Amino acid sequence: MNAAILHYGLVNIEEIRIRLEEQGFKRVDVKAKLEADYRSFAKKKAFHCLCCDSPVEMVLPFDRNFYFRHWDKSECSYSENYKKYEKKISTYEEPRKHILGKTIIRTILEGQSKPLGLTVEPGYLYRTILSIVPDFIIKHPNGDVWAIDYLTGIRTNTAYSKNVEKRKEIYEQNNFKAHFFIDDEWLAYKSGLPYTTFVQTEIDSSVITSEDLDWQDYIKALPPELIKVLVGDTVLHYFPKSITYINPTKREATILRYLLLDSNNARLLAEPIYISLENALSIDPEHMEFNLFGENENLERMDTTEKLFKELDEIKFKEEQERILKKQLEQQQKKNTSEASIDDHPIEYSNERGSIFNETYEETEKRVIAKWGNPNRNHQDVSPTPEGIWNLAAYLNLLPVNVEESTDYKRKRKKERELIERIVNHSITGETYILGGTRAWKETILSELGNISNGCHWNYRFN
Ligand SMILES: [Zn+2]
Repeated sequence: MNAAILHYGLVNIEEIRIRLEEQGFKRVDVKAKLEADYRSFAKKKAFHCLCCDSPVEMVLPFDRNFYFRHWDKSECSYSENYKKYEKKISTYEEPRKHILGKTIIRTILEGQSKPLGLTVEPGYLYRTILSIVPDFIIKHPNGDVWAIDYLTGIRTNTAYSKNVEKRKEIYEQNNFKAHFFIDDEWLAYKSGLPYTTFVQTEIDSSVITSEDLDWQDYIKALPPELIKVLVGDTVLHYFPKSITYINPTKREATILRYLLLDSNNARLLAEPIYISLENALSIDPEHMEFNLFGENENLERMDTTEKLFKELDEIKFKEEQERILKKQLEQQQKKNTSEASIDDHPIEYSNERGSIFNETYEETEKRVIAKWGNPNRNHQDVSPTPEGIWNLAAYLNLLPVNVEESTDYKRKRKKERELIERIVNHSITGETYILGGTRAWKETILSELGNISNGCHWNYRFN
């Protein structure tokens, strides 16, 4: 045990040691200071055990943590829990990081809990002997008990993962609600990538908060096409969950909301949500949970919808490109095998448009013609026209429905360029096997498309 009662107050010698060492004092100086301040009291048995009130003596070893023990060397729940707790930390956690973080977490938790009538205490002060002791225990007025752990161990260590799993089990057996906050060194996130991979401990540390349920409602309301983008062919039977990573020294917390796709890969529902550690450790008395949510996650949800539509567009674009490429290769093969009968059948293009646009090809054509007029079908040398490009775009489902609302010609031209660039720079699996460079075949297809869609020779030059 690192704390004892002295004259109605609490003295935590381990905390004093850490504070002084942080200030640059050597252990020998810290020891001398504690001896000078407290040894005479200890000798007079003025220190008492927090748990059983027996007198305790002060032990200040050079190579281990400072602690108090009963004079008669007997054990009570505090001393037993404390021993187990110390062993847990030295075996599984990164001791230095853990103790520093824990001090900060404790200060915040105490400040946040007091107004709500909750008590926060170190887990080893629990009056029953526990087989695994949490960092903190929060007692609620209604009798609920929460166990809080700050996880700093090695994420790839199987023994650590098993220990955290066991903690969860033991806490549940004691009717504690377990809350794990993971050190943010574990966070694996690449900007713009909506996927991540978890180790088992992260999955075990996940929770379903009320905000996660809002995300669940949001997903349920999405069109099936977008749900497919979100989870592929996975049967959606999971609840969105969240994991909170913390950086106590920076006083920051990061929340990841996700859907688990298989045993350890997950689809992120939004960009990581950054909040202050103070907010993350504050408690909502109504919902009886930590306030683990961003400032405005409704905006995050809108952002997610936009991104999903964009991804859907890209998937359709890729599928169409692959289909065209396949057809081209087939035609080329036919030509090669039988030069005598040249197959002039044009490639058939999909007439179907996705349900997001709710428009058939015929409708698109009508719309495009109404806007830009019917191209002269007999003209043989038509230079590249915006119409051709837009028709092509319509074929490839790249145009938003409201595109004809746009009146700014320059903007349209810019978009045309971007669209062409997007098409010719889009890489397709296997294209390196095609002779003539990766742009050439796409340019060929683009001009073919111009022929078909306009019914005229569209000799587009990409310059
Ligand atoms: Zn005791």
